[in-house]
Amino acid sequence: MRISNDTNPSNELNILRGRLPEWVAASKLQCKGGKVASYIPELSKAPGGALGIHIVDAHGNTATAGDCGLSFTMQSISKVFTLLLALIDNGEDVVFDKVGMEPTGDNFNSMLKLELVQPGIPFNPLINAGAIAISSLIAGDTAEEKSDRTLAFFRKLSRNDSLNYDLAVYESEAEFADLNRSMAYFLKDNGVLKGKVDDVLDVYFRHCSINATCSDLARMALVLAFDGTDPISGTELVPRRYVQIAKTFMVTCGMYNASGEFAIEVGLPAKSGVAGGILTMVPGRYGIGLVGPALNPKGNSIAGVHLLETMSKELDWSLF
Ligand code: GLU
Repeated sequence: MRISNDTNPSNELNILRGRLPEWVAASKLQCKGGKVASYIPELSKAPGGALGIHIVDAHGNTATAGDCGLSFTMQSISKVFTLLLALIDNGEDVVFDKVGMEPTGDNFNSMLKLELVQPGIPFNPLINAGAIAISSLIAGDTAEEKSDRTLAFFRKLSRNDSLNYDLAVYESEAEFADLNRSMAYFLKDNGVLKGKVDDVLDVYFRHCSINATCSDLARMALVLAFDGTDPISGTELVPRRYVQIAKTFMVTCGMYNASGEFAIEVGLPAKSGVAGGILTMVPGRYGIGLVGPALNPKGNSIAGVHLLETMSKELDWSLF
């Protein structure tokens, strides 16, 4: 990946700085048509009218607008990075023995195909069943060690040593997790999970409840945008091949059952979470983090998707 030596913000970043406030204000109008997630009760406290975005380029130049100081839990966005860690820890053969590579067309928390389609492994690592299987593959002798390694990896990629769990969300998620628990027991019976179900779920609940801001997501996305190397420090953090795998899953399944439509309307690899975050990137150029807790019926930030559609169309960002 070419990294230019010019450290001044590009013309495009200057355009973004100028136009983002008006685009964010227009997209914010969408919030009233969405709903904040409440199936994890603690998430329902998020401000439904908020929308914020942070964009960072290879030199650390930024463009921000809206409620970008809001912190929120990463939820499903974390699944991209636990996948990367599991790949680093185990290699591709071991990981793809336990999870598939295909979109499901079902809800993120569906168990349907685990019984219907043999060999009974989750279709991909970004649905809950797949991410729970991935949690069990993270190296470590105990759940605590696996979680410590996960948090350390997230801190390294975000360049934020104070990244931490939102314990209220973690506890709320663990308490209201009957579906995830039943899925995990099913996976254990199918021989997909290693270790004790409760331990695996603890690792999963913890990484979903890592608290971040848009700037943390943008820094993590920047590493993916530059194929695993942090362009600001020049350090390789993840092998290129694994980033390629993760970005492909982001395109095919990163936006739940709206991934096809998002690929058509925005055309960038992205992953959303039920707390309203979206992590995306313009490969070779920017890492982008945004938050808008009000969700559309497909589970993606309603205002966030609107904003990304506007930006991608105005700036011709689609990869396709
Ligand atoms: N922790 C959430 C769950 O297991 C993640 C869902 C999401 O963000 O898609 O339901």
